[in-house]
Amino acid sequence: MAHARISQRVGSIEESATLAIDARVKALKAEGADVIGFGAGEPDFPTPEHIVVAAETACRDPRFHHYTPTAGLPELRTAVADKTAGDLGMPVKAAQVLVTNGAKQALYNTFATLLDPGDEVLFTSPYWVTYPESIRLAGGVPVPVPADQLEAARTSRTKVLLFASPQNPTGAVHRREEVDAIGRWAADNDLWVVTDEIYQLLVYGDVQFSSIVARVPELAERSVVINGVSKTYSMTGWRVGWMVGPPDVITAATNLQSHATSNVDNVAQAAALAGLTGPMDAAEEMRAAFDRRRKRMIELLCAIPGVSCVEPHGAFYAFPSFEGALDKELGPRRPTSTIELAEVILEEARVAIVPGEAFGAPGYMRLSYALGDDDLEEGLSRIAKLLS
Ligand code: PMP
Repeated sequence: MAHARISQRVGSIEESATLAIDARVKALKAEGADVIGFGAGEPDFPTPEHIVVAAETACRDPRFHHYTPTAGLPELRTAVADKTAGDLGMPVKAAQVLVTNGAKQALYNTFATLLDPGDEVLFTSPYWVTYPESIRLAGGVPVPVPADQLEAARTSRTKVLLFASPQNPTGAVHRREEVDAIGRWAADNDLWVVTDEIYQLLVYGDVQFSSIVARVPELAERSVVINGVSKTYSMTGWRVGWMVGPPDVITAATNLQSHATSNVDNVAQAAALAGLTGPMDAAEEMRAAFDRRRKRMIELLCAIPGVSCVEPHGAFYAFPSFEGALDKELGPRRPTSTIELAEVILEEARVAIVPGEAFGAPGYMRLSYALGDDDLEEGLSRIAKLLS
């Protein structure tokens, strides 16, 4: 039998819809088109100055010109352990930290380390695009379900609960009682918990972040905390994240990473260390800007005919329903799905938004409010004009 050119495992992975839309916007802009992109999941601010200065200094230090330990620079592992200990309210050792190429690699490492073929991972829908693909790539079976159906979906093959709060794409933040109930349920059923805490510091109003491991400490032995510097410090391009878990899991994941990518870029690690241990003023200023834009975005979205919105309290996304805007004449087109509507909005209004289909939620659209204030106003007014 002839071999397929592409393996089934990798051939079945879909392109990241959010990165694809972002790439399309950047290409259109490069051609000179006046496009406004609500697609990207990244802050528009430059990385704070003291972090960039630390990276410049690291560049000049020959120690950083060579391979360093796969698991991360010792000083960064210690800083991550200290930070996580504070978040979880329990001791965390540097040996429990693996520094990765962004939280994305931390997720993949985690699934590859925990899952055998056929092991199921439960997570709530709508979900971030990478979750199912990362689980599948690691040989596991992704099982997305509505939040109230976790128990109904649990089987003898369920090994992991993947928990995220604040969430991408909805911006929802679980209330403390919900976190307690879900954590208790996971512990009672001997599940592993992988908790994605990348948006931990991006919460607004009087809503508070609660780590599921802090709330149900007995999960510590069976949990992996995923985090990184991308969102908090506007460092998406530097590619530094980490996973924190029991030492045997971290050792196994480090072995995997030692053959896949080795240590993360040392200069980027030095920058991440400056972020973690330095002043938080710039991060707080960015958070305050997101909060202002969040309120403005909700106000403008709610005023668009056919659009309805639940107020998001975390991350930097709104996830309104566009159901009421479907099946209407828009020039020569009559979009019946949010995929089609997003196409029409890009073509006619030159505004990029991500259809909910990418996140398992047709009828909805994800709009990031991590873009400049003027673009936010202009982009939403273009959508309003098209749909009115
Ligand atoms: N988790 C979630 C929920 C995200 O939205 C993202 C980025 N879009 C990541 C993890 C990955 O972040 P990074 O790889 O840049 O650290």
